[in-house]
Parts: sequence; C-alpha cells; structure tokens
Amino acid sequence: MTDRRTQLADNLARVEERISAACAAAGRKREEVTLIVVTKTYPASDVRLLAELGVRHVAENRDQDAAPKAAECSDLPLTWHFVGQLQTNKVRSVVNYADVVHSIDRNRLVAALSTAAVRAGRELDCLIQVALDAESGARGDRGGVAPDGVLELAGEIAGAEGLRPAGLMTVAPLAGPYAGRPRAAFDRLMEIATDLRAAHPAANMVSAGMSADLEDAVAAGATHVRVGSAVLGVRPRLG
Ligand SMILES: *Cc1c(COP(=O)(O)O)cnc(C)c1O
Repeated sequence: MTDRRTQLADNLARVEERISAACAAAGRKREEVTLIVVTKTYPASDVRLLAELGVRHVAENRDQDAAPKAAECSDLPLTWHFVGQLQTNKVRSVVNYADVVHSIDRNRLVAALSTAAVRAGRELDCLIQVALDAESGARGDRGGVAPDGVLELAGEIAGAEGLRPAGLMTVAPLAGPYAGRPRAAFDRLMEIATDLRAAHPAANMVSAGMSADLEDAVAAGATHVRVGSAVLGVRPRLG
C-alpha cells in the first residue's frame, strides 16, 4: 500500500495537470486559477501533508469539523475558505479561522458575520453563493441566493464593517434548467459576475468547479476551483 503522502502527491499532480490543460485549452494563464483543496471529513494530518506538498488554500464546510482542524494547523501557511451553509450561531467561531467565506446568501448572515468579524478584529472576504436554480427572490435548497438577489446582497456586504465583497460562488445545479449542464451554469455565473464587478470592481473572485466539473469552470472563467475527492479520495461519509 502506498503511503498517504505519496497518494496525495499523485492525486495533486493529476489535478494540477487537469487545471493546466483546462487553462491551456481556454487560452488562460495557469496563475489565473487558484486551487482550493476541500479537506472536509479528512483529518488535520492530511491538511498538514497537503501544506507540505505546496497547497496554500484549503476549504471546509462544517464549523464543528473545521474549527479544531484549523486550530491544529494554525502554524501552517494556509488560507482557510468556508464553503458550507452557515448558521448565524456559528459565525463567531468561523471568523476566528476563515479568511474567505463562500456561502453568503442572506442579509441576516451578513449582519452576524460583520458583528463577529469586528469583535474578532478580522477582515473577511465574502463571496455571494448564487443558486442558479432558485426562483426570483428565493434561496436554493443547498443555500445560495437567486441571481436577482446578488447586487442587493453585495451592497449589504460593502456597507458592513469587517467584510469585503469579494465575488461569487456557485455549485452546478442538480435540478432545473442547468441540471447536467455545468458549462452553461458557469457561463451564467460569469455574466452575473460581470454585473457585480461593474458595481464592486474589487469583487473579482469567481469560485466554481469541483472534482467532476473543474474543466467547465476553468473554461467559463472561474478564478478559484474547489476540489475535494479528486485530491483526498471519495469521502467516507456525507459531507
Ligand atoms: C464538498 C464540496 C466541494 C468539493 O467537492 P468534490 O466533488 O469532492 O470535489 C466543493 N464545493 C463545495 C461547496 C463542497 O461542499
């Protein structure tokens, strides 16, 4: 059996090749796309190995798992991304380790994050999660605001102390008109991102693409891909 370090190194190399090939195919520079490794359900020891292998961005989706893991890894030169649905009673914990929150989808969360960030003396980059399959004015089943709610929410973030509007995030929808069409979904996200940048020029991050569809995201113009299972292996439990 190969050891864990070798396994992670091999997987990382394969993902790196995929990103490079997708960038080349799209006529983009490799530096335009940042790899975020989603370490949810995997132990702090894996995070440490990934950092040794050169990973600089990691993501988690549950505060209960992320908080102790981030504490164990606080000596590592990592940027921590929070990508899961976020309850307001968790924000005081999340602001202690997260540098970027990808899952902003309602005003109440903005207010809670702002209060917590100010109290902790931190500045957070905030991405608005877009539910491309949500009806106007609604939110998605797995979080996210409908496309027509993005600009208002960005205004809330821009006006909130301790928070910066940094861009958009989406997960390719499993239902609705974009089901099974990740490229079309990511193209739509890019249109919304262009509108957002017109109002907030610094909000230029576009977080899209996972293990199964990172090529589509890079082709569409994503700046950040969030890759879990292709690096760490298929997750043992739901997450
Ligand atoms: C788990 C997760 C990912 C990574 O998914 P993989 O298919 O394992 O690459 C990306 N984004 C979010 C929001 C996630 O929850």
